[in-house]
Amino acid sequence: MGLEEKLPSGFLLSTVEAAAGWVRKASMWPATFGLACCAIEMMAVGTPDYDIARFGMERFSATPRQADLMIVAGRVSQKMAPVLRQVYDQMPDPKWVIAMGVCASSGGMFNNYAIVQGVDHVVPVDIYLPGCPPRPQMLLNAIIELHKQIQTTPLGVNREAAARAAEEAALRE
Ligand code: SF4
Repeated sequence: MGLEEKLPSGFLLSTVEAAAGWVRKASMWPATFGLACCAIEMMAVGTPDYDIARFGMERFSATPRQADLMIVAGRVSQKMAPVLRQVYDQMPDPKWVIAMGVCASSGGMFNNYAIVQGVDHVVPVDIYLPGCPPRPQMLLNAIIELHKQIQTTPLGVNREAAARAAEEAALRE
């Protein structure tokens, strides 16, 4: 009897994915996208009081090519939207997005033509963080929730394409 037959079904594959997920979540480098007041709270997580370094994330990347998390902190103007998308496209896969605050999540109080009514019109969002502004503890909590998602993300899947396919399938139903 071979080794695979002795092990519970899927044991080897799930172990490799779990290890990859653990490594990914323990070494995220955020590309900051501080756009307004929420960015001040985002910066606070780098201070000793909140200590984002304990998650291996103290290095906010100055280049999107070395980042795998985009924290959209603040309202997104229509003029800024293509820039945001370009930065996102320059980040290597796999990558994740947190919409920090009500402005990034839905436009917030800025219900007008100049502001994108939710950054998910521009990039796929993994975590929507409410608040105006969310406290640094709330951002840390969002990061911990994101870690759980990353831990279970299958290897080799284009998440944006998969989400788009699921959306199109739902529309067809
Ligand atoms: Fe500013 Fe509030 Fe909007 Fe954050 S959610 S960018 S704090 S107005």
